[in-house]
Amino acid sequence: MKPLFYLLDLLFPPCCAFCQRKLAGESVLPLCSECEASLLSPAGCCPHCGHPLPEDSRDCPACFGRAFAFDGACAASLYRGQLKKAVYRYKYGGEKGLAQPFGRIIALQVKKYPWPSFDAVVPIPLHRKKLSQRGYDQSLLLARAVAEQLKIPLVCGLRRRRETVSQTSLAAAQRWQNVREAFTCVSGSLPQKILLVDDLLTTGATAHFAALAARRGGAAEVYLAVIARSEGYDAT
Ligand SMILES: [Zn+2]
Ligand SMILES: [Zn+2]
Repeated sequence: MKPLFYLLDLLFPPCCAFCQRKLAGESVLPLCSECEASLLSPAGCCPHCGHPLPEDSRDCPACFGRAFAFDGACAASLYRGQLKKAVYRYKYGGEKGLAQPFGRIIALQVKKYPWPSFDAVVPIPLHRKKLSQRGYDQSLLLARAVAEQLKIPLVCGLRRRRETVSQTSLAAAQRWQNVREAFTCVSGSLPQKILLVDDLLTTGATAHFAALAARRGGAAEVYLAVIARSEGYDAT
């Protein structure tokens, strides 16, 4: 280890990105062993929405095979426990620095999937009003970190054309209505193979309409990666 990094590690010992426990030694992932064990594996998850599948079935209890405009989705882990608290700190507690470890974790998850090599990483954007309230765009920071890790360009090619009510306050059916046609493509044309990045995936409604806008903008293969997938049976 270089002396500067050694000194920085002494002053600011690396912490687990999910539970904040101090990490001993160097590891590939910025996670303690317990949180690393909570990461989802591609073989055990629905290829369409990233939700864990029951042990004895390939029928997804979350999306029921719904046709999304994205070709596949993956999440690092389920939105619960320590990760849920970490996402909360990231989105509402001003801990922007979590974008880096989250981005590393997402990038490593993406590499486990038999997906195409992407031409660009595209963030699912916030509406500018929400951006001015929060002061930063959590999905943009995350997408930038993922793009750096995967060594592919970041293209901010989508825009929210109208303000939407927070999805968390709505029932599943209303979520689809709320974000219907909320996105538009701003780049002249998007590259062929893109990876959308967002912090959370719940019903998939937001990502579906973002993917639809991306396809209208010229993308032919659209995949989605998030840090956390909500547990649920709420795709109606
Ligand atoms: Zn941990
Ligand atoms: Zn599914």
